Amino acid sequence: MENARQILLDALKFHGHRCWASVAGVRAGLAALRELGVNRSGGRQLHACVEIGEEHGGICFGDGVQYATGCTLGKGNLEKAPYGKLAVTLIERASNRALRVSYKPTLQKRIAESAFMVKRGEGIEPDAIPEAEQWELVKLIWDASESEVLAIGEVFQLEREWFPEIMGFVPCAGCGELTARAYLRVVGEKHVCIPCSGYER
Ligand SMILES: [Zn+2]
Ligand SMILES: [Zn+2]
Repeated sequence: MENARQILLDALKFHGHRCWASVAGVRAGLAALRELGVNRSGGRQLHACVEIGEEHGGICFGDGVQYATGCTLGKGNLEKAPYGKLAVTLIERASNRALRVSYKPTLQKRIAESAFMVKRGEGIEPDAIPEAEQWELVKLIWDASESEVLAIGEVFQLEREWFPEIMGFVPCAGCGELTARAYLRVVGEKHVCIPCSGYER
C-alpha cells in the first residue's frame, strides 16, 4: 500500500480542492481499513455506507472515504445513509465484519473561524480560495491525533445478504442504447430502457 500521505495527496487531486472534510474522510477510511485488517477495495471486496446527506457542508467527506477505501460510485460498493453525518461503516463482504468510524467535533470551532470557512460562508467556491488557506485546514485535520478527530467503533458482525451482479447489456428496442438487463422494461412486445418506456423507474 502506498503511504498515507500519498493517498491523501491523490485523494485531494481527485476531489478537486483541499478541504477539511475530504481529509476527515480519508482519515476515517484509512482507520477503518486498518481496524478491519483489510486492503483498499480494488474490486467489490469491501462495501462502504457513508452517512452524508445532500446539499450540506462537509459532504466532501464522501470523496475522502471513496478514495481511501476504494468503495466508489463506479464500483457500486458505495452506499449512502442520508443522515447528514460525517461517518462511515466499512464492511468486508466475505465475512460481513463491519466497523463504524465517525468524525469528532473537536476542531469545529477552529474550522468555522478559519479564513477558508469564512470565504465559504461568503459563497466563494472552495477551489477559488487561496491555496495556502485551503492547506491550512488540510494540515489541521491531517496533523491532529487520531483520537482528536475520529471515534472508532468496535468491529461487529453484520447480518446482510449480498446480491450478485447481473451481467449483460441489451440495446433498447427504442433508442438503441445499451441498457443493463435489470433496467429494461417491457412495453407491449418490446424491451426498452426506462426513458423510452415512459415509466418512472
Ligand atoms: Zn471538499
Ligand atoms: Zn431507449
